[in-house]
Amino acid sequence: MATVAWLLGRRVASWRPRPPLQPLAGLINQRANSLLPVDDAINGLSEEQKQLRQTMAKFLQEHLAPHAQEIDRSNEFKNLREFWKQLGNLGVLGVTAPVQYGGSGLGYLEHVLVMEEISRVSGAVGLSYGAHSNLCLNQIVRNGNEAQKEKYLPKLISDLAAVPASRGITAFIVEKGMPGFSTSKKLDKLGMRGSNTCELIFEDCEVPAANILGHRSKGVYVLMSGLDLERLVLAGGPLGIMQAILDHAIPYLHVREAFGQKIGHFQLMQGKMADMYTRLMACRQYVYNVAKACDEGYCTAKDCAGVILYSAECATQVALDGIQCLGGNGYINDFPMGRFLRDAKLYEIGAGTSEVRRLIIGRAFNAEFH
Ligand SMILES: Cc1cc2nc3c(=O)[nH]c(=O)nc-3n(C[C@H](O)[C@H](O)[C@H](O)COP(=O)(O)OP(=O)(O)OC[C@H]3O[C@@H](n4cnc5c(N)ncnc54)[C@H](O)[C@@H]3O)c2cc1C
Repeated sequence: MATVAWLLGRRVASWRPRPPLQPLAGLINQRANSLLPVDDAINGLSEEQKQLRQTMAKFLQEHLAPHAQEIDRSNEFKNLREFWKQLGNLGVLGVTAPVQYGGSGLGYLEHVLVMEEISRVSGAVGLSYGAHSNLCLNQIVRNGNEAQKEKYLPKLISDLAAVPASRGITAFIVEKGMPGFSTSKKLDKLGMRGSNTCELIFEDCEVPAANILGHRSKGVYVLMSGLDLERLVLAGGPLGIMQAILDHAIPYLHVREAFGQKIGHFQLMQGKMADMYTRLMACRQYVYNVAKACDEGYCTAKDCAGVILYSAECATQVALDGIQCLGGNGYINDFPMGRFLRDAKLYEIGAGTSEVRRLIIGRAFNAEFH
């Protein structure tokens, strides 16, 4: 991967004084094909985990980054199926699934890292990935019986999506085409465009008893324990979006000049860089540590809610700061800053809102003092 110094040198060499707003978009898109280094020595990752990030980053720069803006603009990912197959070949659709079903047999920290790197390139595709690999696949890993695992996991791990759902207090697996199950038309969203969302409609839906997930009447456990891990894994989304904002904003601050100097040398802009970076790093350490604890078998609802509560709200703030760093260009859709903000906001709503996460954390403290 090219070093930042080299990239900046290349970009500074092609810099023209006082450019109109539009040409800077070309520069930043060129920049988007390379990334700021992430200091994983600070993040406490193992060599294998560092390698996983690098492999994902390289693959995603090649196969996803060139399409990210267009996916957002058109609200459609035309090559989704092919891309999904490639993710399957990389072994990241079933990160947490056992090797015997074709999974990678890795932990939640690795799952978070993959989620982070995909979201760094496209928040929308990251969200789809989180839904597939965690909400759907990992629920079957954790709660499915042997027959269900053998039936669904290999296919889900290679490329195909199914729909795990719940009704009343029994969770069950619903497949497309089952009688009484249909979907509404695709919703037009503020952000996460291209990660298609629709309502699931169940009308006298018939599901065979073999599709019960976990035990009859134990759906609350399936959902709630699944939600903790969903919140943890999805917290990789805001991390990736924050990193993407830094990937774009920091070099920009060192190219754009005003009053004869790089705007990154103004103290208020240095303050923005520091705030954006420290917010991201604080979130990262919290998310990675909770993931490590879960991998060691210690998983709390309080901290799974905590990591996504804090990361989601920080991502929205970092996106606002990123827009400010780019000035007028931050507000123009040739640049990806608006996309980052719109994508970041979803994480304050999906997988339970910020209010509900605060409620979970507050109640956990209350429970210790009843
Ligand atoms: C892009 C997208 C993808 C989604 N994907 C999925 C998915 O895959 N699976 C799925 O099941 N759902 C999904 N959702 C739904 C999502 O989880 C809900 O929208 C979210 O949990 C909020 O629920 P609601 O929309 O019913 O809002 P409401 O419950 O109507 O909440 C409205 C407001 O009231 C607040 N509020 C509600 N109850 C309380 C309370 N007790 N105390 C304090 N404040 C409260 C909320 O925090 C919120 O601010 C998705 C939503 C979006 C936008």
